[in-house]
Amino acid sequence: MPVVMKVCGAARTVTGLSLLFETARSRVLVDCGMFQGPKTLKALNYEPFPYDPASLDAVLLTHAHIDHSGLLPKLVKQGFRGRIHATEATRDLCSVMLPDAGAIQESEVDQLNRRNRRRGREPVQPIYTAEDADRAMVAFRALRYGEWITPAPGLRARWWNAGHMLGSASIEIEFGDEAPMRVLVSGDVGPDLGPMQRDAEGPQGGVDHAILATRTGRASRRPPAARRSRSW
Ligand SMILES: [Zn+2]
Repeated sequence: MPVVMKVCGAARTVTGLSLLFETARSRVLVDCGMFQGPKTLKALNYEPFPYDPASLDAVLLTHAHIDHSGLLPKLVKQGFRGRIHATEATRDLCSVMLPDAGAIQESEVDQLNRRNRRRGREPVQPIYTAEDADRAMVAFRALRYGEWITPAPGLRARWWNAGHMLGSASIEIEFGDEAPMRVLVSGDVGPDLGPMQRDAEGPQGGVDHAILATRTGRASRRPPAARRSRSW
């Protein structure tokens, strides 16, 4: 079964990770991160998604850090109606971190609008509010490491401990029923945090494609994202 992967964030920068996997039968997103850093990067959070959120079947979430989860409330606000699959700890952390991210945006926009009023400029809206984030939490479905789930037709997935933070995972996805194509999305892996965090784990027997997060060292000023795709 042909699979197309589109990088919708974290290309030439380290934040805003989002990968779209498309087959003839389904469309799933892995992560929906917020761009963080200089103003030019943050501005990307206001851009429309390079896909229709309503057309997605599901989101598979690697971990709770905002640069991987931070635009999920915007996704739900803009029409996503599927489920967001994540480990139980990731779901619990997101239930605190996402409303907090919404509240920060509300207060930042509040300050900005006070300045805008003085300068006679139009007010701007937050990307999402704490209330929007609370609403997005309803879409979450918690799972355990190693448990296979079928988030969309024609694929299944399971989560491996990535040793990065509480609940963090690499996600193994199998596309197709017979002789499936196996893909591993690493998410953020490690570092080794000693007794508080088990070492990262992964599937035995290899995968066909491993998609790894790496650090570029510096953020590019060129617009990241969306418009890169890869087919198998
Ligand atoms: Zn992280």
